[in-house]
Amino acid sequence: MNENSVVAKKKFGQNFLKDESVLHKIIQSKPKNDNKIVEIGPGLGDLTKYLVDVGSVEAFEVDTDLCKILQEKFKKEINTKQLHLNCGDVLNAWQSSSEGNLIDEPYDLVANLPYYIATNIILKALADTMCKNILVMTQLEVAEKFCAEAGEKVFGSLGIITQSVGTAKIVVKVPPTAFEPPPKIDSAVFLIQKDKDRSDKAFEDMLRVAFMQPRKTLMKNLSSKYEKAKLQEVFQELGLTLTIRPHQVNTKDYHQLYKKI
Ligand code: SAM
Repeated sequence: MNENSVVAKKKFGQNFLKDESVLHKIIQSKPKNDNKIVEIGPGLGDLTKYLVDVGSVEAFEVDTDLCKILQEKFKKEINTKQLHLNCGDVLNAWQSSSEGNLIDEPYDLVANLPYYIATNIILKALADTMCKNILVMTQLEVAEKFCAEAGEKVFGSLGIITQSVGTAKIVVKVPPTAFEPPPKIDSAVFLIQKDKDRSDKAFEDMLRVAFMQPRKTLMKNLSSKYEKAKLQEVFQELGLTLTIRPHQVNTKDYHQLYKKI
């Protein structure tokens, strides 16, 4: 229960961010530009109230109870069109959009995401050619995967897909006490700055095969789908050992591998 007498709904991943220092850190970390701001899951509007001061906001909130509260709270911003509130599931909005773009103009995604669909949302934003920057809070474990470097244990397809379109870094780690109600796990805010469009589907299919069994060798995983003799030839060309593990190969080499096989 909070100041609006709203009971947080678990099924919508509702953990409201109350720590003002984290809210300020998010606003300070937003790249300075004139892009539209897309907020997914404005909740009770704690982040929204700062976002409307730095840009024009397009928000998507699935919970109709929260939508009513937001409509009341942001009457002025809605009237002046500083805020446009879409009451509905953002995944449906993406599904029905043209060419996988959530909105038809360049935007930065800034949000404290619902954790149960955070990875899915970020992958959609990475593929969305209108999305230019992604500044989001997720559970720490997910943030670390998107921001991982080759060689780290958690380096995998999420890190490679991210590095294929730009750069990623953790902005701040956030403890459960920053939220109401507190989640059971640690969280983190991270920033992805995109400078290219997302790689093609076939490349990502190859990554899925490469990381099928992350503790096995890359050669073993890839040879379940690709011809072994060809793989051995390409590995030699790229200077990759036959015992190398999938997380030890960098993004550039994955792109080379893809081109050659
Ligand atoms: N931004 C608020 C904050 O920082 O306090 C709330 C964040 S809370 C972690 C996630 C929000 O996403 C909730 O308001 C929830 O209702 C909303 N949400 C969950 N699933 C959604 C979906 N599929 N589409 C749009 N919003 C969703």
